[in-house]
Amino acid sequence: MNKSTPWLDLHHRAIVVDIHAHPALKSALFHKSLLRRDKAIQAFFWPLNVRTNFPALQAGGVDVLLSAIYAPEKRLIEDLPLIKLLRLIPWSFVRRTWKDLMKPPYAVVTRHLLDDLEQRLAAYSQRSGKTCGQRPVVLARSGAELEHILSQGADGPIAFVHTLEGGHCLEGAAGTEPEIIANLEQFFERGCAALTLVHFYPNALGMSVFPYPQYVLPLLPRKRLDRLMDDIDLTRGLTPTGRSVVRRMIELGMLIDISHCTPPARRDVYEIVGQSGASCLVMASHVGAYSLNPNPYNLEDWEIRWIANHGGVVGVILMNYWLAPYRTDLGLDCVARTIGQFAAAAGGSTEHIAIGSDFDGFTDPPDDLKDASELPRLTERLLAEHDSPARRRYTNQDIENILGGNALRMLREGWGKRTLV
Ligand SMILES: [Zn+2]
Repeated sequence: MNKSTPWLDLHHRAIVVDIHAHPALKSALFHKSLLRRDKAIQAFFWPLNVRTNFPALQAGGVDVLLSAIYAPEKRLIEDLPLIKLLRLIPWSFVRRTWKDLMKPPYAVVTRHLLDDLEQRLAAYSQRSGKTCGQRPVVLARSGAELEHILSQGADGPIAFVHTLEGGHCLEGAAGTEPEIIANLEQFFERGCAALTLVHFYPNALGMSVFPYPQYVLPLLPRKRLDRLMDDIDLTRGLTPTGRSVVRRMIELGMLIDISHCTPPARRDVYEIVGQSGASCLVMASHVGAYSLNPNPYNLEDWEIRWIANHGGVVGVILMNYWLAPYRTDLGLDCVARTIGQFAAAAGGSTEHIAIGSDFDGFTDPPDDLKDASELPRLTERLLAEHDSPARRRYTNQDIENILGGNALRMLREGWGKRTLV
């Protein structure tokens, strides 16, 4: 790779922020290492690949990662026989981990996963201090800590920021609303900057959309698929508890992630946040555009505009299934087209666009963007986009904003900025 190419220079000059990825998932579930590059990386879906290990993040120029913690929902394990099968690996340490992770309540599992990731960060940072050219990876528990890390420049540490995916992670033994709110406050105090309100399955906060790509369906047992179809109700939104959680998040200054929410649940969030007058708090961290792929998971143009007008960001997911209504193995085209649509939906502005790769979230990344180290290809692609032969579609500043500037602005102006509602 030629170090002086304009796109590589631009990529490394930019502060690159991935607003949604899951480095903690496979390391906790399958004891996969985050310290080394995954040499056996596959382009296609394979649950054991690790795409956000620390060396891959460094190679891809990632400066800030919003690291999503996901306590596996019990039904995910029941519904996906492949994951159930991996549980039977006869290594005693894996078995022990599975017992720890599958034992409810979810809030306890979530704390366990946060501890586990923090230990891995500490171990790597100790090691990287002794290895020339390796950036440490440091947890930022607040906006002030994030600024301190960023002030150390491009050779300074990579910042991790905790986020939570799925409101089920707030459920303790009692499962009551006061307990859910108390857990939300504890996780926020611990440094969790954002909560995705729902994940694969409906929970105490609200209703989720159908979670699986079409091509996974043959892997699901028929009975379980039918049950899931029965449970998903696209006319339902947030529960009263979900509405209370959103109000408390606004008060705390915790980012509200509407990915996986049904359209009515998203509308509930817009209504509550709109009435509060708060800004820079709503994001869709890993989605596509409904006008390009009409799936209820994706945002309609008016929603993208709403988020842009309220200082939030919309992160493009690096997974074709959500971006295109047809099957393709290559993704850069789909990602670039989606970014173009996000801009068009907001009158040509790019100030609300971000990257939410969803790497390591049991996703199937495209062949031309298969792990974090390949993110510079996106910069190369955006730089090559033209409205006419003589006119580039995006300025350097636009590209820097998409790669991380917009996400950083939301973090700086939203995270921890308490609002009274
Ligand atoms: Zn997700």
